[in-house]
Amino acid sequence: MSEENATLDNEQVKGLNFVEEEVYNDLRAGKNGGRLNTRFPPEPNGYLHIGHAKAICMDFGIAEKFGGTCNLRFDDTNPVKEDVEYVDAIREDIHWLGFDWGNREYYASDYFPKLYDLAVRLIKEGKAYVDDQTSEEIARQKGTPTTPGEESPYRNRSVEENLDLFTRMNAGEFDEGSRVLRAKIDMASPNMHFRDPIMYRIIKTPHHRTGTTWKVYPMYDFAHGQSDYFEGVTHSICTLEFVVHRPLYEYFVKELADETYCPRQIEFNRLNLTYTVMSKRKLLQLVKEGLVAGWDDPRMPTISGMRRRGYTPASIRNFVNTIGYTKYEALNSVSLLEHAVRDDLNKIATRVMAVINPLKVVITNYPEGKVETVTMENNPEDSESGVHEMPFSREIYIERDDFMENPPKKFFRLAPGSEVRLKGAYIIKCDEVVKDAEGNITELHCSYDPETRSGLPGASRKVKGTLHWVSAPHAVDAEVRLYDRLFDVENPAAEPDRDFREMLNPDSLKVVQGAKLEPFIIKNSEKGAKFQFQRVGYFTPDYDYTPEHPVFNRTIALKDTWEKVQKNS
Ligand code: ATP
Ligand code: MG
Repeated sequence: MSEENATLDNEQVKGLNFVEEEVYNDLRAGKNGGRLNTRFPPEPNGYLHIGHAKAICMDFGIAEKFGGTCNLRFDDTNPVKEDVEYVDAIREDIHWLGFDWGNREYYASDYFPKLYDLAVRLIKEGKAYVDDQTSEEIARQKGTPTTPGEESPYRNRSVEENLDLFTRMNAGEFDEGSRVLRAKIDMASPNMHFRDPIMYRIIKTPHHRTGTTWKVYPMYDFAHGQSDYFEGVTHSICTLEFVVHRPLYEYFVKELADETYCPRQIEFNRLNLTYTVMSKRKLLQLVKEGLVAGWDDPRMPTISGMRRRGYTPASIRNFVNTIGYTKYEALNSVSLLEHAVRDDLNKIATRVMAVINPLKVVITNYPEGKVETVTMENNPEDSESGVHEMPFSREIYIERDDFMENPPKKFFRLAPGSEVRLKGAYIIKCDEVVKDAEGNITELHCSYDPETRSGLPGASRKVKGTLHWVSAPHAVDAEVRLYDRLFDVENPAAEPDRDFREMLNPDSLKVVQGAKLEPFIIKNSEKGAKFQFQRVGYFTPDYDYTPEHPVFNRTIALKDTWEKVQKNS
């Protein structure tokens, strides 16, 4: 770490969150030789979600802030659930969020030999033993936080017997579940995690990196701290559920560390978000059962889902910054995330016109065959963004919702006999409503005031409503996917008696065919493009987009309609 990072002024110190403060104090005290090295330790058993993004922003962000480094470590200690598909997806998501681990990509499985050696050493020192009981028997002997546990009948085996059994466990001589290696600590400890925790279990599924080399695999508590140590990690930042594991973390790490270097665990609150779930097990279930289209379904709380939906990395980082880091569990409103998404898209999205649910308007006094071009600002928030041209003609589409035959008093959009401005073009007046045999409105006949285009004398004439529109002969048809919240219950995790799948929002996806888009959108729909369909919302081309069948995801509506619903109810 550089001197300049080690000395912040008072204002800067006040702006630190509590984890940064702890780290800052350690650096100032010269602990670990003044080094800062964090790690982000995902288990490759699923895709990353927005909760992981919070951890990533902490682990990588704090290293950046104080001139340290952050490792990416795959915590691959359970071959049953892990897969290389997840490893690749995790890498891509971290990069997309804007962080980089350089050449510091590690795997807990790289340390299997060292961990095994440490286990052997602990056996030799009488600090570990092989237990032949089943996991049920072991659990029964655990006791409760207020009553001591019971010692295993195998606890006092000789070192020789333990070494022999552990070696044979790893040679594949015993069945899964038939034996475990346990640390010999204290069955009466007030901390349940000290009651002879399991260090190794037998797993015979091949590992995605080490194949069939190992038949015993270390448990989280025996692997994590030591992996930190082997890697030179100084600050092992994790979430609050690990507070109770910390003494055990320290217990095992002390077997390796000395006063010149010892990793330290610090915990912050997990991110929980309304109207979704964060458990990888449940997310995997949604994917496997086809209840969503995949890990990157735009309704998923995954990073890849949010990317596909059109969220930006900056909006996710800003959201994480806004909610901050504390020592207390909380449930954050998804509205805050959506606010951050709107805020960022407002700055960068190109303004265009698209009509989702079209109603044809014929401008009867406009010459047939005539086409004018109107000039549209690409983004009023960005002076560099320029303009583009859009065709105007005798037949256009407007949004069906923007017309009412019998409007209430304060309806400022189109109605029989009333006037509106077509954004960037003329004022029109509705003269006639055309219906089919069933009485459905099929088109409107309107007349325009030719003096009201920008640059002409009538341009300043005021009418109450302004509508978006698309020229009918020039419009391109598209499919739009309108997403809403995945669950219709605020906190599905807080309803343990209900199957979480029952709480899925049946209206979380609405597919609309035949939306009408101005041609400029299609010409500029490269992957990841961000549009604001004016008056409608923010949209991005979906991965299913083809020139023959353009598909757009609605990233988010322009306004928070849920907030309105909640206020009114
Ligand atoms: P599981 O759901 O399988 O227990 P996990 O969500 O803890 O797994 P990991 O891959 O072990 O997933 O997590 C990697 C890191 O991300 C850990 O340091 C963990 O603390 C952090 N993390 C996971 N979920 C959240 C969350 N909701 N908020 C903040 N950090 C999280
Ligand atoms: Mg975990």
